[in-house]
Amino acid sequence: MSRAKLSFAHLPTPLWRHDALDALVGAQVWIKRDDTTSGPEAGNKIRKLEYHLAAARQQEADTVITCGGFQSNHARATALLAAGLGMRSVLLLRSQPLDVRPVQGNAMLAALAGAEIRTVTPEGYAQRDARMQAIAASLQERGESCYVIPEGGSDGLGALGYVDAMAEVRQQLDDGQAGGPGPFDVVVHACGSGGTAAGAALGAAQSHVAPRVWAMAVCDDAAHFEGVVASLIRDARALEPELGEPAELKVWDEWKGPAYGVADRRQLAFIVEVARQTGLILDPVYSGKALYALSQVEPKPHRVLFIHTGGLPGLLAQADAFDRWLPPATPA
Ligand SMILES: *Cc1c(COP(=O)(O)O)cnc(C)c1O
Repeated sequence: MSRAKLSFAHLPTPLWRHDALDALVGAQVWIKRDDTTSGPEAGNKIRKLEYHLAAARQQEADTVITCGGFQSNHARATALLAAGLGMRSVLLLRSQPLDVRPVQGNAMLAALAGAEIRTVTPEGYAQRDARMQAIAASLQERGESCYVIPEGGSDGLGALGYVDAMAEVRQQLDDGQAGGPGPFDVVVHACGSGGTAAGAALGAAQSHVAPRVWAMAVCDDAAHFEGVVASLIRDARALEPELGEPAELKVWDEWKGPAYGVADRRQLAFIVEVARQTGLILDPVYSGKALYALSQVEPKPHRVLFIHTGGLPGLLAQADAFDRWLPPATPA
């Protein structure tokens, strides 16, 4: 691909396995450690932003505008990477109440890097694309040149980041890093805006990483994501016509939990158990729900590639949810 792309991620991210994790999930689970794509900006969004911010640069944008939940990992990664490129960032974040103080987790990191945070109610957020265009128009009137990135970085361009990630996994398979060159039974990951699923489905097929992809919904439902991902796949193939048919995609929505960003007690307990038995840290918004979902699916696939998409700052903003598992410190 000759398309402009910046290099932010430290690659290849490791493939990691732990016997206790296999036992907890009930399958042989190879974790693609995309939670370690970088430092504080790490996670799956970096791979998409390598394309988006390259395009923003080509267009000589000085301001990047994007959106997400108040604890958006994507908005945080955008803010940090934009700051490094000398660009300003404006983040439209869904929030109720609108004046959240003190800012924690992702929002804190974004604010540290100088992002301008503008909050909007869930009702207002439904019009996020129009809102971002309106912000861009008003900044452009003041002479700024803006580049707008959709929610989650999920469009055809962003999806290419996960086509590349699957090529990286193919190389790791060929190098014998997952026990042999044969493909996995399935690629599994958390699904929030669909870009990872679209790229993984295209890339898993192109690079013979697996015949199918399971996207574990963390909100909305399967029908919603099937439509979103199909349209992202069309957009990505329009950009890169040599991409073939995607792998078979299944969206599971049975284990999305009570709401976006809210995990139930079994999901939280699973995150705690994984941390205690393996030292692997999952988050309650995405990766924890998705790996818990895999532990519940029947019948189980045999050999799985699970993409750990990151989300640590979101976990740190939810200490309260884990209260019952966190004993108070005792004086020495
Ligand atoms: C955004 C995100 C996802 C979901 O990826 P999409 O491409 O938006 O579906 C999963 N995990 C984490 C930690 C994320 O930040």
